[in-house]
Amino acid sequence: DLSGKTAVITGSNSGIGLGIARELAKAGANVVLNSFTDRKEDHALAAEIARVCGVTARYIKADMSKGDECRALIEEAGACDILVNNAGIQHVACIDEFPVEKWDAILAINLSSAFHTTAVALPLMRKAGWGRVINVASAHGLTASPYKSAYVAAKHGIVGLTKVTALECAGQSITANAICPGYVLTPLVEAQIPDQMKTHNMDRDTVVREVMLARQPSREFATVEQLGGTAVFLCSEAAAQVTGTTISVDGGWTAM
Ligand code: NAD
Repeated sequence: DLSGKTAVITGSNSGIGLGIARELAKAGANVVLNSFTDRKEDHALAAEIARVCGVTARYIKADMSKGDECRALIEEAGACDILVNNAGIQHVACIDEFPVEKWDAILAINLSSAFHTTAVALPLMRKAGWGRVINVASAHGLTASPYKSAYVAAKHGIVGLTKVTALECAGQSITANAICPGYVLTPLVEAQIPDQMKTHNMDRDTVVREVMLARQPSREFATVEQLGGTAVFLCSEAAAQVTGTTISVDGGWTAM
């Protein structure tokens, strides 16, 4: 039961972040949703979660590509017992043609943002005497694919950051772990399908089965609810000694 705890989930107005926010709220946590936009729909999502789950839910705008805004997000949240670093973007191109500004943006959003939020959240967790840092990495935090240099580098980086966070918090009732999803059908993945169709000259179904899920032995996408459930487990007492490690939710991808 997570009632009384506050969870801040970065990049949570869609996809995996929203799925994790919903499951944490169902488990009783108050939640802070985030993205870089400030639309009516963003605040409506928070209101809906509050209504359905009977918790406090807020939406706070902050751009995770900017270090000062990452830090301000945690400060504005006021409390942060559970920090889920989830915001992430993708770009696919070979290294010699990889746009420099995309490299910088991916490293900032997918990796450096977690450094900034964690830096502000840890003192709050230590004061509260309990904390959970959950970094949403990827199967690409453990293995590589061509044309995803920035993403793979950032995701391997966040697995490393997770281990350091765990060591610095050992014995303080604060754990840090990374969840490594395989393919989950979300807007981020959806956006890659047209590119992949073009690259491989295949129709949608074929590219999904033969290319995107080629490395996922189950040939099934993971769901955002399953990732939310994994986050709830990491917040449970059963996971109190699980720290500095990765949990793959990838249909067997990294077993191959
Ligand atoms: P998504 O596009 O649905 O969600 C990404 C979220 O990040 C959105 O809420 C978006 O608004 C937010 N975001 C993007 N740029 C931001 C910025 N500058 N500041 C604040 N928020 C920003 O994609 P998703 O699939 O739900 O991805 C979530 C995380 O899961 C990412 O870190 C991604 O790398 C990781 N992941 C996804 C998959 C997958 O198959 N979908 C697999 C492995 C890992």
